[in-house]
Amino acid sequence: AKDAGSRQHRRYSPDLDNQTNEAARLGVQMRTGLDTGQFRMVYQPIVALPEGRLRYVESLVRWQHPERGFVSPAEFVPVAEQNGLIVELGEWILRTACAQFIRWRDQHGVDAPQRISVNVSARQLNEPGFAQLVADVLENTGMSADHLIVEVTETAVFGGGTAVQAVKDLKALGVHIALDDFGTGHSSLGLLQTVPVDVLKVDKSFVDNLTMAGRHAVIATALIQVSNGLGLTAVAEGVETAEQAAELYRLGYQFAQGYHFGRPAAEPDFHHRPVAAV
Ligand code: C2E
Ligand code: CA
Ligand code: CA
Ligand code: CA
Repeated sequence: AKDAGSRQHRRYSPDLDNQTNEAARLGVQMRTGLDTGQFRMVYQPIVALPEGRLRYVESLVRWQHPERGFVSPAEFVPVAEQNGLIVELGEWILRTACAQFIRWRDQHGVDAPQRISVNVSARQLNEPGFAQLVADVLENTGMSADHLIVEVTETAVFGGGTAVQAVKDLKALGVHIALDDFGTGHSSLGLLQTVPVDVLKVDKSFVDNLTMAGRHAVIATALIQVSNGLGLTAVAEGVETAEQAAELYRLGYQFAQGYHFGRPAAEPDFHHRPVAAV
């Protein structure tokens, strides 16, 4: 209900009970889903501008539930974070993504993506031995650390705990670190002083309306300057139109990701999609 905030005894509100029950149900069903293979991975191209050549892929998890149908990761990843299932799910994600990357290298050679990027949640990052797990997966799949990008969010790294050390351990392995949804948090710039980051994923909100309003372009320009100044790679997220792609290229962006270049898919399109009219 809309007036939930005005209730004196919020924790006893039926709405919150329902939310808790729903999260609990989802958790139980995720457990089953993990055991019966209901999860799968899809991959979205990250391309180099202006030629639109596929360079990296981001791996994204999908859950096809027999009755619920498609459940968005935006819905179940937070639940998995809460109940801890993200640790097991995350390990499966990492292994699956790395194994797929190796298959592409074998099948497509130089046309295959050069790196694969895997999202890692706060809970995973704070799990003792996470960097060691990554090292084990790399060794088991025969993948070089240089081919892996681990995407972390600001909140994951900022939440205290051992996350920053985990990032440093990953870095020491030779894994690349991407800061996801960059620019949306409270201390994105400050974090760059303490966390060894290689890639800045500039959030979709800065790409939206890029071609319309002046403010968006100013911020997108400032972010690319920070990225270049620190010697990092900036990736513009959520690029949906040719106009946005052209404008990003004009502003100095060298990498982009979004529906314009390719949707997440089991087998992403490895072909070029050049940026027109630059
Ligand atoms: P994210 O890491 O920021 O991922 C980008 C999201 O934007 C993806 O949604 C992707 O499908 C979507 N997207 C890409 N291009 C466009 C575009 O041009 N327009 C629009 N409107 N959307 C675009 P998705 O796959 O639903 O994932 C949502 C979030 O769930 C992710 O945000 C990430 O936070 C989380 N997530 C997804 N897969 C994983 C995973 O394997 N592990 C973890 N820990 N979290 C994941
Ligand atoms: Ca991401
Ligand atoms: Ca993102
Ligand atoms: Ca996001």
